[in-house]
Amino acid sequence: MSRIIPYSCQSVDEEDITAVVSVLKSDYLTQGPAVERFEAALTSYTGAKYAVVYSSGTAALHASYFAAGLGAGDELITSPITFVATSNAALYVGARPVFSDIERDSANLDVTRIEEKITERTKVIVPVHYAGHPVDMEAIRAMAEKHGIKVVEDGCHALGASSKSNAASPWTGQNGEERWAKVGSCSNSDMTVLSFHPVKHITTGEGGAVLTNEKSYYESLLMFRSHGITKNKSCFKMHDCAVVGDWYYEMQFLGYNYRMTDIQAALGTAQLTKLEKFVKRRREIASTYNGVFVGNNYFETPMEKQYGHSSYHLYPIRLKDGYWEKRPLIFSKMREHGLGVQVLYIPVYLQPFYKEIGYRQGACPVAEDFYRRAISLPIYPAMSVEDIDYVINHTFKVFEEVEE
Ligand SMILES: *Cc1c(COP(=O)(O)O)cnc(C)c1O
Repeated sequence: MSRIIPYSCQSVDEEDITAVVSVLKSDYLTQGPAVERFEAALTSYTGAKYAVVYSSGTAALHASYFAAGLGAGDELITSPITFVATSNAALYVGARPVFSDIERDSANLDVTRIEEKITERTKVIVPVHYAGHPVDMEAIRAMAEKHGIKVVEDGCHALGASSKSNAASPWTGQNGEERWAKVGSCSNSDMTVLSFHPVKHITTGEGGAVLTNEKSYYESLLMFRSHGITKNKSCFKMHDCAVVGDWYYEMQFLGYNYRMTDIQAALGTAQLTKLEKFVKRRREIASTYNGVFVGNNYFETPMEKQYGHSSYHLYPIRLKDGYWEKRPLIFSKMREHGLGVQVLYIPVYLQPFYKEIGYRQGACPVAEDFYRRAISLPIYPAMSVEDIDYVINHTFKVFEEVEE
């Protein structure tokens, strides 16, 4: 077997390439009109009022925490089953990440356990829509409001997913009775963060975005992306217009250069037109997998809660008792069979760096148990029918081999 079927992979076509080439032939490679076009496309897709794109999802997380007012001495509650960037960005602004345990089936934050983690220092809750399955945002919002805490969704896995929502949203269900809000609409949150890394639903190479409905967040998100600088006269702190001409701008706080280029933004806009098709294909593949895998002896399969439509960024299986003990062998055999499986994620606080700054094993037992059992099988829109069959057949073969 020479080819490895990866756990996820971008789909870039001729239309995407043409869009990028046309920017390369234009006047603006960065800070040009393609960035604003991509931002407008993101707001019209998600239903949020404002979008600000960044050089990465990590930069977008950093910006969102800054805009939420998170700073030194504050606490942020999030899931340990996420990419390290979710909590690292809290450390960037001097805040302390607090990890709250997950629910066994979805591996999303267990909403019933968050409250015990809330202190007077808690400023922000960051639900991560793991694998593309939305967290119960109605429940999160209710709790956050009760305690006066802000909510930033880490939607890096979940562009194209939606959740049931009572909040006003332009997205309603087909039967007209249920309201479904797209992840990114911010119907039940202050901000939502997206990533456009090639393994995510749409790509810009590297890239990310923050969505929001609040103008005040929007303004600080924009300035944070570009050194804390504003050229907007109405925002100037120094109002002596007699001495300031059109050259004048103000740097009002310490920001970064976290800009996305127009080259990337053009790719993002072209990719976004195909998102619905990509998500539909991911859901079809998940449903094919479920059709053969549900109820097998070796592992549990992902499911959907009544409040969520997953965009299936991942297809994480959970090994049953008797098999998780052999995960290293199962994993390496899967790789030998050409399955580009991955383990997502090692609970963040078990990383050596987090241990050095005081986090301890045992803090989130359900997350640690999930980690022992998890393997993500390949799922991405460009998978052929043969690829899907190959994954199914060889997954079973591997389990038969380890039983011998
Ligand atoms: C990908 C990802 C990020 C970071 O995004 P980058 O674009 O790689 O910086 C953050 N959180 C989660 C859950 C992710 O999957």
